[in-house]
Parts: sequence; structure tokens; C-alpha cells
Amino acid sequence: MNLRERVKQFTFPKGDVTKMAKQPNILFIMSDDHAAHAMSCYNSKINETPQLDRIANEGMRFDNCFCTNSICAPSRAAILTGQYNHVNGVRTLADNLDGRKPNVQKILQKHDYQTAIVGKWHLGHGKDHDPTGFDYWNVLPGQGEYHDPKMIEMGEEKHYQGYVTDIITDISLDWLKNCSQDKPFMLMCHHKAPHRPWEPDEKHAHMYEDIAIPEPVTFNDDYANRSNAAKEATMRVDRDLTKTDLKIEPPPNLSSQERKSWNYQRYIKDYLRVVASIDDNVGRILDYLEEEGLAEDTIVMYTSDQGFFLGDHGWYDKRFMYEESLRMPFIVRYPRAIEPGAVTDDMALNVDFAETWLDYTGIDIPNHMQGTSLRPVMEKRTPDNWQTSLYYRYWEHLSEPHKVGAHYGLRTKRYKLIYYYGKSFGATNSSHETRTPEWELFDLKEDPYEMNNVYHNKAYGETVKDLKEELYLLQRKVKDEA
Ligand code: CA
Repeated sequence: MNLRERVKQFTFPKGDVTKMAKQPNILFIMSDDHAAHAMSCYNSKINETPQLDRIANEGMRFDNCFCTNSICAPSRAAILTGQYNHVNGVRTLADNLDGRKPNVQKILQKHDYQTAIVGKWHLGHGKDHDPTGFDYWNVLPGQGEYHDPKMIEMGEEKHYQGYVTDIITDISLDWLKNCSQDKPFMLMCHHKAPHRPWEPDEKHAHMYEDIAIPEPVTFNDDYANRSNAAKEATMRVDRDLTKTDLKIEPPPNLSSQERKSWNYQRYIKDYLRVVASIDDNVGRILDYLEEEGLAEDTIVMYTSDQGFFLGDHGWYDKRFMYEESLRMPFIVRYPRAIEPGAVTDDMALNVDFAETWLDYTGIDIPNHMQGTSLRPVMEKRTPDNWQTSLYYRYWEHLSEPHKVGAHYGLRTKRYKLIYYYGKSFGATNSSHETRTPEWELFDLKEDPYEMNNVYHNKAYGETVKDLKEELYLLQRKVKDEA
């Protein structure tokens, strides 16, 4: 009987089902820069991800999962610690995680979980910054390479032959095969892909060769009626992709619009090829769980450290609090507690993941964690007072090469308020240059693509006042009062 049939047969008893089951295994698969709108379970218009869709179809899809700082290291630190970046100390790409401080893996390890991380780490290396809380770790140094990567296995450098996404999956499977059956496991399988420079493997190198990928609706955004921050950012598909990104020379005599479209096709096809390899490899791990009879007792989560601009607003990269970058894909399968085919629009944040794992394992959530367990949402018993707004802060001020100004802001279900405060406040990886502070307000109901800043529109005066009040309240709540 396959998992789908078993799930169909499974009836959901009332009350706390998981307490009747043994402590669940946790498989946390995270890719790097994989936007939700490049997954078919999120209605992608540009690709298919049949293996990832298995998780969504057999579990729950979160439509409003967001990061609290849209960049690699800070999001990873938030996930491991359950803390915002001003608390865990990883505000920018130049900050390393202090390995001596508490993290969720140390807690799981102490409670007899077998713990491992394989793949992208990106939180520093050496005595104070190597992974802690893991029985086994084998990670890429820094960003890592797509082909024949070096890795650091428990402090020892090792060289691998092959493609990084396959290798991370192979090592993850080897570790799973050697796990004791007597204790639960928690594995973080962290892919490097689809991070820049989007280098596909041979198997997927020719996908999409004969077709044109549709351009997003905001592809030709001219940044009118928005902040100067949007105009100033250097992440434009037409202008800022490098030779390394594009890999081949453009044909001669293209008009500027033709060149922009050509750049987009080069960029997005490689991005989607790299995603296709993740999809295949996620399928390998899901198959393994099913073959070994582990699927029902394993919480499988797939996410990415943040979203990404896929030509949206004419951009690649992330950092901004705009939707494509802010939103994380987040799908979860756990047949013992989550009904198949579930979808939620309840708000979830990356700082909530650690608390969710602890909740499902029956371990108390420590006070230093700042998020909320998502378990009630997953079990369709979301409390009435569930979070309806989030606090975001991007600390890097005008850092090279993308020059996105530091900002903080609030997103509610309907509105988004952003404040570009115009200076670094001493953050690392930041410019000392200053800019005139600017506000942006988007009415996501009227303007889902965030093309029209209504901050100065008098009709929104009361809304601005209310949102600012809530923004400052959340700042106090999460203790970001700098
Ligand atoms: Ca990333």
C-alpha cells in the first residue's frame, strides 16, 4: 500500500493524536533562494515540481509563511534559534552564529534525538561558529560550489566528485541509513541550490531549451511612485546580471528590451534547471522514507531560507520586504497529525519553526525562543488570537553588490508598511552613506504586486496611523528598540 492509500485509510481521532504515537522523526529540507512561485504546488506559471508537490498533496501548504529578514545567514540563524536577528546576533551576511549559545538542535540532542546537518550552513566556521548541537555535520564552506564541492565533515575538509544537490542527498541518505531505529532523528538537509550562479547539472542542462518561459507581470516595472530604494537597487535582470550568471555571450544587435528578455531567459532557465534537480532529489528522500516504513512517523518540511525575485519588478535576488522575497515556500507532511491536501493562509514565520519541532516532540519551548509553535495551525485548530502581523528588518545598508537600503516594516493580511531608515546604525556589511528616510505603504488587496505606494495618499491616513502603532508595538514585543 502506498502512502497515499495509507493516509486515506487513516482516520483522524479527536484530541492529541501525536501523544499516542512515538516521538516523530523530523526531516527538514531547506533550499537556498527557492521562491514559492517556482513550485507547482504554489501554482507556478513557469515550472513543475512533482516531487515537492507530493509533500503539499499529502500534507499542508502554508500560503503566508514569511521570513523576518530576507537573506541567507540571518534566516538560517532565526530558524536554528527561534529568535529574531537582533537577538541571535546574525543581522547580516557578515555576522556569524555564536555556536556556544542555545539552539534547537542542542535541545533535541539532549532529549535523545539523533541530529545531523548536511549541506549549506553559512553561519561561520571555526571553533566558535562550526555547527553545534549536531551528532553529525557535513557542510559546505561558505556558499559552496555546484560541481565537485569541498565539504567540511566534522571539522575535516573533504572533496566530493559530482553535483552538489545529488551529493547532499547521498550524504543525507547515508546518515539516515545508519541511524538507530531506537531513537528518533532530526535531519537538516540544506541544499545550496538554487543560489546564484545557478549552475545546472548535465541531466537538467537542456530543459526548457526550445520554449520561452513567460515573463512576470511586473517584469517591466519602472519603479515610478515608489521609494528611491527600489530605484537605487542594483539587481536588475537587464543591467546587473554578470557574465558568470549569463554564461554565454548574447547574440549581436539586440534592442535593449530584447536584451532584457534574453537575459531573463538565460537566468530563469538555469534557475529552474537547478530547481528541477532539487525536486528529483527530494523525491529520492521521500521514496526512502516510504520504502523503509518511516513516512508516517516522520514530519517532512520543505522550505527555503527566503523567497526570490524571478524577474518580478525586473529583478533577481531578494533582501526587500516585497512579497516575492518576503514569502517562503513552506509545505509540511506528517500523516499522523496533518490531513492530506490541507492549505492554510494563517501567518507563519521562520522564527516559528524551532518551536514547532519542540512542540511535536513534547519538549518544553524555552523562554528565549521568540516564535510560536505552528502545530495548532497544522492540526486545523488555530486559536482566535493567532498572529496576524509580522515584523521584518533587513539590516544591511546599501551593501555591495545589490545596494538595497536597510529597512524595517510591518505586514498585516492586507497592508504592508515599510520604513527605509537611511543609515546603517552600525550594522556590519553596510555602507556609511546615508539616505533621506522614506516610507512605503502598499494595499495588498488593491495592489497585490506592490506597484503603487499609497503612503502619502490622504485616504490612507488613519491606516498609516494604526499600522505605525502596531509596528512599534511589535518592535517592543520582539525587543528591537534600536
Ligand atoms: Ca538564501
